[in-house]
Amino acid sequence: MNGRQSDSSMSLADRELPEGLDPDRTLIHSVYCGNCGFNLRYATYVGRCNECGHPYNARPLTMKGIFTPAALLFPTADVLLALLCSVICFSTLRSALRPVNAWAIFLAVVAGLIAALYSILAVRGLLRFLRALGIMRRIRKEEGE
Ligand SMILES: [Zn+2]
Repeated sequence: MNGRQSDSSMSLADRELPEGLDPDRTLIHSVYCGNCGFNLRYATYVGRCNECGHPYNARPLTMKGIFTPAALLFPTADVLLALLCSVICFSTLRSALRPVNAWAIFLAVVAGLIAALYSILAVRGLLRFLRALGIMRRIRKEEGE
């Protein structure tokens, strides 16, 4: 944190920017590809990752395709809601079939659809979480070198 603060208080001329790079279009700090974790320092604000080709936009108000610590959040709510709705779906369906109860079957189907939606969100969240873990491992390894 202190390193970054002192970095921003330095003038552009003091920063170590390789010659021929426009400081207004070049990423001066370490910013990481959201797909593979490649360090995009000295790359342009908008472009494609040099390593994996993933498109990114590192402009402060956009930040697309860039790794952010928010990706490290485990999708707890989505996983729990998917499990809860699945349990409601199956238990309602079981009691709805003996004797057959159309309303209970309808409720079970609704719970099943909600469970399916949360399952999709949970799987997407888990994949994002796992990719973020890999990127963090890579960042730590490369910063340690
Ligand atoms: Zn990449």
